[in-house]
Amino acid sequence: MDNFMNLNIFAKSQNEAFARSVVAAFCASLNPTIDEINDIKTAVSEAVTNCIVHAYDHNDEGLISITAKLIGNVVHIAIADEGVGIEDIEKARQPFFTTRSDDEDRSGLGFTVMETFMDTLEVKPNGEKGLVVTMSKAINSDK
Ligand code: ATP
Ligand code: MG
Repeated sequence: MDNFMNLNIFAKSQNEAFARSVVAAFCASLNPTIDEINDIKTAVSEAVTNCIVHAYDHNDEGLISITAKLIGNVVHIAIADEGVGIEDIEKARQPFFTTRSDDEDRSGLGFTVMETFMDTLEVKPNGEKGLVVTMSKAINSDK
């Protein structure tokens, strides 16, 4: 491992922009393109928003743990919560699946966006409680 960071934050909506900027800044040493940085920011935003909206249902003292590692030219990001978790993860990952169809801000595309913008996406239970979303992306690979 070439570099490591861990950020623990309350599940407050103002922390979403903070979290995506921190992870983007952490990746700067890999010389990402603007597009690559925007992809990472978008994926982190989707995962953090899911913690706020779904895991903790806007209880803003819920904890979100964000870990990032650089290994060679690949960034590995894990976003974990201790919220309600997901019963059927495979179903939740399907495009347009949402448990908040009453909310016009939710389209059920968060996981699809993460999968599209990153190279890998894993969604697993976080031990006994909550969810951990792990994703990775190679930077600078075709420049
Ligand atoms: P959008 O992301 O388009 O606003 P969405 O959040 O409903 O809508 P996804 O991000 O793809 O869509 O998530 C799909 C479903 O998975 C959610 O509706 C929710 O039921 C569940 N989910 C996602 N993340 C979590 C989480 N951290 N904890 C508990 N449930 C989650
Ligand atoms: Mg979402």
